[in-house]
Amino acid sequence: MKRILEEFEKAKRIVVTAHVNPDGDCIGAGLALFSALNNLNSKLEKEERKVIRFILQDTAPKNTSFLEHFLLIEKYENIDTKYDFDLMFIVDCGDFDRIGEVKNLVKDGTKIINIDHHESNNNYGDISYVDKKISSTSELIFNILKELNLEINIEMGEAIYTGILNDTGNFSYTNVSKDTFRVASELREIGVNNEKIIKEFYDKKTKERLRMLGYAMSNFEFYEDKKLTYVFIPHSVYENYGASREDSEGVVEALRSFEKTEVALFLREESNGLIKGSMRSNGIDVNKIASNFGGGGHIKASGFTTDKKPEEVLKIVLNLL
Ligand code: 5GP
Ligand code: MN
Repeated sequence: MKRILEEFEKAKRIVVTAHVNPDGDCIGAGLALFSALNNLNSKLEKEERKVIRFILQDTAPKNTSFLEHFLLIEKYENIDTKYDFDLMFIVDCGDFDRIGEVKNLVKDGTKIINIDHHESNNNYGDISYVDKKISSTSELIFNILKELNLEINIEMGEAIYTGILNDTGNFSYTNVSKDTFRVASELREIGVNNEKIIKEFYDKKTKERLRMLGYAMSNFEFYEDKKLTYVFIPHSVYENYGASREDSEGVVEALRSFEKTEVALFLREESNGLIKGSMRSNGIDVNKIASNFGGGGHIKASGFTTDKKPEEVLKIVLNLL
């Protein structure tokens, strides 16, 4: 933690980033950290102040747009890449490549701070703060800010709470520890409104999203001998429904909810023809399976992107189970 602060003090231009296909945890953790860095910055003399930006390859999900400073999140394609950053914070990212094009901002001498909780994290940072047991990167950011005695205001608290909800399935997965509840309780104490966040983050679904869920629920298959529940959604279906990537959030969790499921596999075709895989399990190590396709994640929740055909991916997964 001391080294993190030292790097902050030395740096002039700082960028916060997170993974491609951003989710509630990387947005929550990223925004809370971004706010904390800005608060530190505002205490410096004017001439000492740093440039601090939050840049992602992909657009942040709409259901996080209620969070403070959401509009300050920039998309890589819109930024001026001549810029050199001397410090990069990467949150919620198991491997360096998962920040996508944002890696072009790393120049000789850019220091990298890796703050994460993925099982597959390989400590790629100059400083790596990785806790593989913790529920979410957002919970980890809460601990870091506390430890550094930095203020956590209600807006940062909402971001952290959203991240925890995202990665714990609303406090329902085994990654919820007594510390997760303690953090939630402390957030409640500073005024975080759990009902508001559930409404904004979970219960406001677009028509496209409900349609995609309907498609997936009508078309999934179940492979009895391996207890695998599977669906593939071609790109044409997204086009037919006017849906985007984030409209199929929740599909893989719905697949897992089928009572006989041990492993759920959701494949979707991206506009470039690549296949994005999402896996969930009730105990089987899907991080290991995802690593066969160059992906990773957690034991019970992992993902990958591959140029293999969906039928081929399905065959490989069935063989590995
Ligand atoms: P999802 O299926 O929701 O995309 O991701 C499930 C989990 O696996 C998340 O923790 C996510 O960060 C991780 N994950 C998803 N795709 C990849 C990938 O391509 N590479 C790695 N290393 N992790 C991934
Ligand atoms: Mn996470």
